[in-house]
Amino acid sequence: MRRDCDHLIPYIANELKESEHMAFVEHLKNCTDCKKEYQELSQAWHALPFDYTEIEVPESLKGEVLGFVFDHKRKSGTETFMAKMSKIAMMLKSQFTPVSASIVAVLLLAIIGLGIADVQEKNRHAKNIPIEILTAIPLKAANQSQSETNGIAYIVQQGSEKNLVVQVHELPGVEGSQVYQVWLLKNGTRENGGIFKPDENGSGILTYQLAEGQTFEQIGITVEPDANSSQPRGEKIAGS
Ligand SMILES: [Zn+2]
Repeated sequence: MRRDCDHLIPYIANELKESEHMAFVEHLKNCTDCKKEYQELSQAWHALPFDYTEIEVPESLKGEVLGFVFDHKRKSGTETFMAKMSKIAMMLKSQFTPVSASIVAVLLLAIIGLGIADVQEKNRHAKNIPIEILTAIPLKAANQSQSETNGIAYIVQQGSEKNLVVQVHELPGVEGSQVYQVWLLKNGTRENGGIFKPDENGSGILTYQLAEGQTFEQIGITVEPDANSSQPRGEKIAGS
């Protein structure tokens, strides 16, 4: 039973052998779990933004992206999800040059939607409320010496809850207790928007739950000596 269900992703990705394909079609008729997953995942599959690139993208990559999202839905775990999402974006960037930032962005939109939905599955009630992306904010390097640093921040809403999702690439590495810290600027004051460490590729991601009615004018990202800054002490690396 379990084994049949595992064929769902390769089935959607059209990677099954003829005999396996036929067998799965039969399985799909009788398995309510797979039926439900199939509807959701085939939507996500077609939403994946690979089709409009002129570069031939292997179906297996699409399968990997979707397979990961699927796997995550089963196991959950916010940090691993974010880490993997970041890796996928980096993989796209490095493998299919020149891949425009917009392709990566659209991919992220597609999986952020699924990801946040899943994160919030843990919070009662929230399960069937759709996610809406309210704003996408480009992030740029703050100084010339690190001009390749770039990123995007999204404000997403689910029901009454709003989250800020910040993703940055090409960050300089940090040492020891150093962390990157996100600041939300409003009326000249800076509010802590959370901290993160970049991975070995210099990519970092963070989600921050906005308080009810919380707004801001700008986003700033600094490198801080440790995780205890209540005001910026270190250099600004990127911002909106
Ligand atoms: Zn099944």
